[in-house]
Amino acid sequence: MSELSKCFYQVTAGRSCRDLCHPEYATCWRSFVGITKTLLPGSYKLYLTLLVIPPLVKGGGYTAEYWKTHILGYASISFKTYIQAISGLTLQCLFYKLFGRLHYYWLMGVPGFVSAALVPKLPRVHLRLQGITYFNMMLEVMIRKSEWRWLQVLRRSRLWATVAFMLFSARIMHVLRADTVNQFWIMYPAPATTDRAKGCSSTCLHDASCPAYIFDGVWKYALAGFTIEAARGLLSKGALVYGAPGRFWPELRQAIGLALPLFLAAYVGSFRSISCWLAHRTGRERAGHARLAGLLSGASYLIYPKYQLFTLALTKFLEMSWEHYHNTAKVRPRWAVLLQRAPILRLVHMCAIGYMYHALVFHSHLSPPFNAKCVNYCSGYRVERIKRRLVAWMLERSARLNPAQPST
Ligand SMILES: [Zn+2]
Ligand SMILES: [Zn+2]
Repeated sequence: MSELSKCFYQVTAGRSCRDLCHPEYATCWRSFVGITKTLLPGSYKLYLTLLVIPPLVKGGGYTAEYWKTHILGYASISFKTYIQAISGLTLQCLFYKLFGRLHYYWLMGVPGFVSAALVPKLPRVHLRLQGITYFNMMLEVMIRKSEWRWLQVLRRSRLWATVAFMLFSARIMHVLRADTVNQFWIMYPAPATTDRAKGCSSTCLHDASCPAYIFDGVWKYALAGFTIEAARGLLSKGALVYGAPGRFWPELRQAIGLALPLFLAAYVGSFRSISCWLAHRTGRERAGHARLAGLLSGASYLIYPKYQLFTLALTKFLEMSWEHYHNTAKVRPRWAVLLQRAPILRLVHMCAIGYMYHALVFHSHLSPPFNAKCVNYCSGYRVERIKRRLVAWMLERSARLNPAQPST
């Protein structure tokens, strides 16, 4: 597909936004009206997992207020994504009119960037969700695209990835235990403020006995992992109940993986066991124990060596280290103060969306399937059709240039 980037201007010469983006609509205005009428359900479909999974793993506290906030949050992020999709696709036409021709960076990248800037203000939690998801995917594509040999060696090495994950985990658990950051991570150390008198063991920070504390983590996290897998499986295979009921159960069983629940159980179980062991060994819990337990339990990554998990740990490591520095440094240099004031998350969100839109069409072999799913659900598969048209034009052109060679 990188071939496409080389001959983009040759294959699109003399073609309009209508030829490439919306041959089904005679004018750009009709295309705008058409997408405005049809794209809404796609965004709601994309966020179904966000609607279904959090209440399933929450495990209690289902008040009317919770449901109201949760459902309104889902409706709002879906609607804003719909606005973003319409603006992105309409900007393609506007930029074509502006330049009088199709432009390589202004076809996907810039419309993606600008549409993310135009989207109505997202609540911070949703901005983070979208921003970090896209940032992680961008990192994945950049690493795959990189020509540095050492990076490619590291990318393929599971051992290196595990060692890096262990180091990230050590740092994350250390700052969480120090209580200098307030961020999401897979698990948390027992809070230092717990009233020790309540617990059977006065050496550890947690309530209840050590075996009960460890077992509680293992089974709750295994159950949460299993629930996520089952919900994901149901959402992707649910349509088979109507279409092909015979295939539903076998395919659902196949879709539910055990690696995620096993990883979660092992990560939490080993962290808690090691923390308890260290506390008993040294007589009482110490702040440094979380770092060592975080490091060792990070080896659980071997059970679920997924790119998404790795990039999640990397971004959390960076974010938490920054927040820890911000909250603990007594005197901060000027650049750090300025950086703190800049709307970093919003900029990351815009750049990552622009980058990933561009990558989806021009480097699609490097783009993760989730990127294609997001964009295609929200654009009613228009972006997929744009990509196919470009590839078809490219093949046509190479057949014209080399008539003797059979086209592949
Ligand atoms: Zn147009
Ligand atoms: Zn304990």
